[in-house]
Amino acid sequence: MVEEIFQKFRDWIDNRHEYAKEWKEKTNRKIIGYFCTYVPEEILYAADILPVRILGSHEPPTVTEPYIFAMFCHLCRDSLAQGLKGKFDYLDGIVEGQSCLHLRQTFNAWRLHIPVDYAYYIYVPHSVQTPHATPYLTQELAKFKHSLEEWIGRKVTDSDLDRGIRTMNRNRELMRKIYEYRKLDNPKITGLEAMEMVLSSQMVDKEEHSKLVEQLLRELPNRKLNRNPGTRLMIIGSEDDDRIFMQNVENLGATFVIDEHCTGSRYLWNNVSPSEDRLGAIAERYVDRVPCPSKDWPEFTRVKHAVNLAQEFKAQGALVIQNKFCDPHGIEIPPLKEALKSIGVPIYPLEFDVTVPWGQFRTRVEAFLETLTGLEDLF
Ligand code: SF4
Repeated sequence: MVEEIFQKFRDWIDNRHEYAKEWKEKTNRKIIGYFCTYVPEEILYAADILPVRILGSHEPPTVTEPYIFAMFCHLCRDSLAQGLKGKFDYLDGIVEGQSCLHLRQTFNAWRLHIPVDYAYYIYVPHSVQTPHATPYLTQELAKFKHSLEEWIGRKVTDSDLDRGIRTMNRNRELMRKIYEYRKLDNPKITGLEAMEMVLSSQMVDKEEHSKLVEQLLRELPNRKLNRNPGTRLMIIGSEDDDRIFMQNVENLGATFVIDEHCTGSRYLWNNVSPSEDRLGAIAERYVDRVPCPSKDWPEFTRVKHAVNLAQEFKAQGALVIQNKFCDPHGIEIPPLKEALKSIGVPIYPLEFDVTVPWGQFRTRVEAFLETLTGLEDLF
């Protein structure tokens, strides 16, 4: 049964567009595509809208050149390519929560060249470490809610917001409980399976997803994974949905026991603390969450979080995925390296593009794994 649950997560990812179209047909409700996890899905659920994350497909993008620069990160180029090819033609709207310049341009290119009924850019502050950030974002969320209300033609009430907060909190809490099983000496799930669980949660109705994660929580304690976990690895980076890479690395005698990705732990680590001021509570969550490096300034709080994760999940080494052309993540690699090295966790950086040269990467990852098992010490 556990295998069937993981297969369902996989199916949802592979058939994300078919799922969305069927959901729309079945519910007669709107679907909004969002680019970055700074979009507060709580408010979209409160408005009875299904949020789905816009991601790429890892096919070489051939259609984006006239619309955004070729030196934008692959997430942006590949996502936009999917829109230009009509893969997201069921979207009623798009929303972006300000993160980096590349994603802002992607949002703008989409808004200009791919017809949607509704487009909204939320000015999530860059300086999340100032005391002004939460009150500022609360006001921005009020503007966003108002704009949504005008579009859908009804008020989003406090009880709607409570429902939206409950839906998101429950899903994040359940997935965090699953992550606990990754701490075991013999983890009950692989890194690929964890990635597929979180990724699929960004593509389907959270209520449906939560039911399946609840079922998984009931059945996981009895699962015996018939594999040697090998070296305990952490994977760190930006958005990462390269499932083939995960599988290939885990086939080399390793298990990703924890991740630091916005398609992983960074998405689910923090909840909204309910309060009378619903929008204030949501704003606080997005200001206080584990930050994307585009907002991780002047303190590198994400680096401290990565160190805690490495210790809690007993990682022996970390692969750091640097998306080509991504400055925010590139800037955090030196402090990440220092901080993880200080607790005895060496890192190995790999540069990702839309497709990954696995032949070269295999040799490099194998060599890294050898250093971790004591054959060499390059650090
Ligand atoms: S990988 Fe970097 S450049 Fe690309 S969207 Fe994320 S923060 Fe922006």
